Amino acid sequence: METTPNSNRFKITIIGSTNAGKSSLLNAITDQEISIVSDVKGTTTDSVKKAMEFLPFGPVLFIDTAGFNDDSKLGTLRTEKTIKEIRSSDFVIYVIDGRNFNLKLYNENILILKKYSIPYINVVTREEKLNLIQKKEIKKLIKNCFFVNTNDRSSILNFKEILLENLNVLESEPGLLDGISSYGDTIVMVIPIDSEAPKGRLILPQVQLLRAALDKGVKSIVCRDTELEEILNEKKRTDISLIITDSQIFKKVDKMVNDKFPLTSFSIIFARQKGDLKKLISGIEKINSLKDGAQILISENCTHNTSHEDIGRVKIPKLLERKTGKKFRFSFSAGKDFPKDLKKYDLVIHCGACMITKKNMEIRINECEEENVEITNYGLILAYLSGILEKSINSILEYKQ
Ligand code: SF4
Repeated sequence: METTPNSNRFKITIIGSTNAGKSSLLNAITDQEISIVSDVKGTTTDSVKKAMEFLPFGPVLFIDTAGFNDDSKLGTLRTEKTIKEIRSSDFVIYVIDGRNFNLKLYNENILILKKYSIPYINVVTREEKLNLIQKKEIKKLIKNCFFVNTNDRSSILNFKEILLENLNVLESEPGLLDGISSYGDTIVMVIPIDSEAPKGRLILPQVQLLRAALDKGVKSIVCRDTELEEILNEKKRTDISLIITDSQIFKKVDKMVNDKFPLTSFSIIFARQKGDLKKLISGIEKINSLKDGAQILISENCTHNTSHEDIGRVKIPKLLERKTGKKFRFSFSAGKDFPKDLKKYDLVIHCGACMITKKNMEIRINECEEENVEITNYGLILAYLSGILEKSINSILEYKQ
């Protein structure tokens, strides 16, 4: 667990006004001087991140953000950055300075959390400086709030217990293979080792799927496309319950499998786990009505180097134009940057989203829906362009409805 990458950790973002005590709270929770603490407003100008094992909950990433109401020159930029952190959070700790509570600002910020459906807890700091009447007043204004003294160990321990209780009731993400494979099944993962494959390692979706199979006691055969035929012909195999291929070689693998086994792709498995599969499938229907010059956004959560074989920037645009016989205008976004002005796009094509949580992907899907923009994903579009969309969805049929 110590080596869990930050992208796979549960993200807890600490927000609030400048000088509300966010950094002191993070330092107290982690028992380390991670964030600089001072009484000067706006001391935390950039987000500060701390990964830790928050037992028994699991690996988390705490993110201490710059405060709202930062009236310095760069304040607006910092607030935008904080909102970006909120959008990719799984949980938020809203820190309030009990002596200096701005209800209007609080209500505005809570609307942001509600918009993105981010669960949160209210924490009022500097409890030691508040009298009973002040505490009562605050409780009247904010229903569920927890008072804390960051200098008092027992107060922090109590808060950690409350935080754990809040985290434990959150719905956990379904496993990648939940409902698709079960104990004792055999699956085949087909991974091409071409010039795009990173040297000496697998990419995250492959690692995560392998781990999901191990967790369920599902036997995995991992091979390149060049060895697949040999494996399928071995002793006239009948024990394979599913073949999962890299989307880029869908067509080639489909020919080899020849309808003898259910076939899907890594991206489709992720589309099902990370978002609304039904919605992403309906995004495919948009392709038929795209006109010449339509604007398409291709969005990835990674900021990896692009190569001439890059799936998002090269392959999908080329295949899509070839299939439709039309010319489109493509835009690209990577990492946390998901455009706000979605209205101008006719279609969004998203990667498998293995680096973000289901909640984060759902936020992106909802933002597209709000702007009436269809969204689909790499695996689905490549299956469609290879003429095997139905087949690759049918293999995980129960998630089709
Ligand atoms: S591009 Fe998307 S699917 Fe691929 S590794 Fe990055 S986050 Fe995962």
